Amino acid sequence: MAVLGDPKKTIEILNRYHFVFQKKFGQNFLIDTHVLTKIIQAAHITKEDIVLEIGPGIGTMTQYLCESAKEVIAVEIDRNLIPILRNDTLKDYKNITIVEGDILKVDLVSLLSEKRTMPLKIVANLPYYITTPILMNLLESNLSIENLTVMVQKEVADRMQAKPATKDYGALSLAVQYYAEPYFVANVPPNCFLPRPTVGSAVIRLSPYKEPPVCIKDKELFFRVIRASFNQRRKTLLNGLNNAKEISVSKEVLEKALKNANISVMTRGETLSLAQFAALADEIFQLSQN
Ligand code: SAM
Repeated sequence: MAVLGDPKKTIEILNRYHFVFQKKFGQNFLIDTHVLTKIIQAAHITKEDIVLEIGPGIGTMTQYLCESAKEVIAVEIDRNLIPILRNDTLKDYKNITIVEGDILKVDLVSLLSEKRTMPLKIVANLPYYITTPILMNLLESNLSIENLTVMVQKEVADRMQAKPATKDYGALSLAVQYYAEPYFVANVPPNCFLPRPTVGSAVIRLSPYKEPPVCIKDKELFFRVIRASFNQRRKTLLNGLNNAKEISVSKEVLEKALKNANISVMTRGETLSLAQFAALADEIFQLSQN
């Protein structure tokens, strides 16, 4: 039975192993059973599911996952946590594979395909210092992912689901929303963790699209246009793009591309929708071919 949601149990394990929290690994362990249950429910975990957990810590959420899913694969970077997981907190579960490694370096495609574990669900209380690279690596990968339900810094959750013309809207909103549909699950206050983080947290679920919501001719250029548009938020789109090193076309071409995409030269990047960025990037692509 999952017992680690109880803060007393967590403290007991930490003391027994003289565990020292490593700030560099973003270690804030969950100690709230309501939040744990909410994450499992939001991820729609069933007995048919294969789940990848990033950063199991001492295995608190992993226990919940092992009880709800068919199979769980957990990747943990901190070697001091591996014996706790293997010899103690997860030793009674037969459906867990513990992998010691860095989630940004582990070859997930071969790890998961060996186990015929597609499609999969991903669940994590993420280490906040590498939230964006972890999520973008997964969204851009060829893995067949049904959903990712993750705890992130509250501000990052707000940015991921932000709509155009709001203060949180930016390159991350567009990158996430190109690949997946975000759903805000819950706010989580600092007292649900040990130690308490200095920032607020939130759980967000991302459901990757089978097909992206917009068709684009050159994905790399599309993301370069997005980044350039938000690099100089105070400038108009035309000036922002014209000043950007990564966009190597003339101001005249940019003006024409904006006109062809029905976007005013005075517009600011933060008001453009995903579809408008797609239209603009396609026009730049087309014009730069001539
Ligand atoms: N899942 C646990 C919980 O909810 O109590 C721990 C969550 S804690 C916020 C983040 C976990 O990710 C830590 O166990 C940390 O050691 C691990 N971690 C940090 N960087 C990692 C990386 N690059 N690859 C794999 N795990 C990592």
